Amino acid sequence: MNFRFRPFFVALLCSAAFPAAIACDAPAASPARAVAPAVTAEIELAPDLHLLRIGAGAYVVRHVCPFVCNSVLVEMPDGTFVFGGTPGFPEAARLVLDWIVREHGPRPVVAIDTGYHFDNLGGNAAFLDAGFPVHGSDLTVRLLAERGEKMRALTLGFIADKNSPYRAAHVALQFVPPDHVFPIEQGLTLRFGGEEVRAIYPGPTQAPDKVAIYFPGRRLLYGSCMILAGDRTGNVAEADLARWIDGIRSLMPLPVDVVVAAHGSRLEPGLLQNTLDVLARSQPAEAQSTVRR
Ligand SMILES: [Zn+2]
Repeated sequence: MNFRFRPFFVALLCSAAFPAAIACDAPAASPARAVAPAVTAEIELAPDLHLLRIGAGAYVVRHVCPFVCNSVLVEMPDGTFVFGGTPGFPEAARLVLDWIVREHGPRPVVAIDTGYHFDNLGGNAAFLDAGFPVHGSDLTVRLLAERGEKMRALTLGFIADKNSPYRAAHVALQFVPPDHVFPIEQGLTLRFGGEEVRAIYPGPTQAPDKVAIYFPGRRLLYGSCMILAGDRTGNVAEADLARWIDGIRSLMPLPVDVVVAAHGSRLEPGLLQNTLDVLARSQPAEAQSTVRR
């Protein structure tokens, strides 16, 4: 099983930034809903696809395709399973949907895309084919249409092995936009059985359209590609480094017990500061002096 963090690929895949006022009045998670930055169980759905349990009904979905790509899956009080982000390909998303049915019986599923890159919405076709809604921002819809093929070419350039099945999967990946579109500046709030999930847009960060997914009742933040779990910025082809810093700062008041990055294995809240530190080292000296802890 390959769980190695691959900073080289990660560096190639991510960038984002655009600040917004963010409420931070979430109470402490109830013990039944609590998550912790430790994996308590690992469920293998395929050699490259694992569910990492971080709390009751809360999982990191780790898809190595071939880059380590994390999304999150959370069971809400009404039985709905919410995906924050998606696996990289619909085939992997289908395996997770099959697991939900196998383990829990038929359940409602809702997905929220975190950007237009393949690692933020590549599973969309599986959800829509199954009749489940997929939420995403208006900017993600536009960028997928305008830049999707450029992103595909960039991604293929990172897969050196011409015979890799992942290369073939990236070539074949159909770009399927979300079918429930929200204005990115407004973000999105959904409620299921009294528990809330928010899509938060902190401005342009690693890419213009990345959103973070926040579960206030669990103090769980999935920062997608705007959170850096390693010591490099990764793919900054579309990044706005200055506004990325502002965006991460705007997330820091959120009460969190776990922070999940799209790429990497660390899960602790310190990933927010780590992101600022990595970005500060990427700034000109003059800008660095303004990046404070
Ligand atoms: Zn990414």
